[in-house]
Amino acid sequence: MTERKVKQLVGAMAVSEGAGVTVHRSIGLPALRHLDPFLMLDHFSSDDPDDYIAGFPDHPHRGFITFTYMLAGRMEHRDSMGNSGVITAGGVQWMKAASGVIHSEMPKQTDGLMQGFQLWINLPAQHKMSEPAYQEHPADRIPEVVDDGTRVKVVAGRYGDTVAPVQDATTQLTYLHAQVPAGGVWSCPTLADASVFAYVYDGDAEVAQTKIPAHQLAVFGSGDQIRLHAGEQGARLIVVAGKPIGEPIVQYGPFVMNTREEIHDAFTDYERGRLVRHKARVNSTA
Ligand code: FE
Repeated sequence: MTERKVKQLVGAMAVSEGAGVTVHRSIGLPALRHLDPFLMLDHFSSDDPDDYIAGFPDHPHRGFITFTYMLAGRMEHRDSMGNSGVITAGGVQWMKAASGVIHSEMPKQTDGLMQGFQLWINLPAQHKMSEPAYQEHPADRIPEVVDDGTRVKVVAGRYGDTVAPVQDATTQLTYLHAQVPAGGVWSCPTLADASVFAYVYDGDAEVAQTKIPAHQLAVFGSGDQIRLHAGEQGARLIVVAGKPIGEPIVQYGPFVMNTREEIHDAFTDYERGRLVRHKARVNSTA
């Protein structure tokens, strides 16, 4: 096993999204535009309704996957494929926007804590204009492993012999939610040829002598394992890995394509009501 070191630390910054929701962005900032295949990571965490109540009314996406993992609260979603429902704490939503989806994500609560992550995962050129797909899994479908005191929820991909409900073959996505006890050590195997990051949202951690404070995203260098020491408060974090796609990325707002022409086409299609090519297709297995 070769231990990965921290290559870059990126402090999350507050940005306003949707109709005025405060999110804390790390991937997607000038310091880290992309981490191929990952395009954006937003952490939302607030018990002030003013930070989230406006929600994300109808908006389009094309060319990538949105992956939402809820830690606390309730979010109602509806999309142009005909899917609708409420994602609650511990639940996950995988939406392959591909050729085009219009959807809304609105809080289903008027007070209390709303917390979670939204990750954007790129699609390779050959899949960007494919048919959209959708999966949603509640908390009780997400397997949990306890490894030397560390609780690991396997949200996507696999961890040892434990297989998550979400499998993303293109990027071989692994998405783990870990709670490492105070002073604990967690050894997490990772695919050797993947881009790997960790985001600590509570407590702090240290990997190969580099401290990772809360609300910092750590990008890891090469290796096939992360050995993480939790601080005195323990550490709660996500660890995410995916294979780079290695293609040009042209992003404009909610559209992520390979060329400027394709971005122009996305805008034109959206303006003319042609973005959504696959309407009201109800699909829970993708
Ligand atoms: Fe969205």
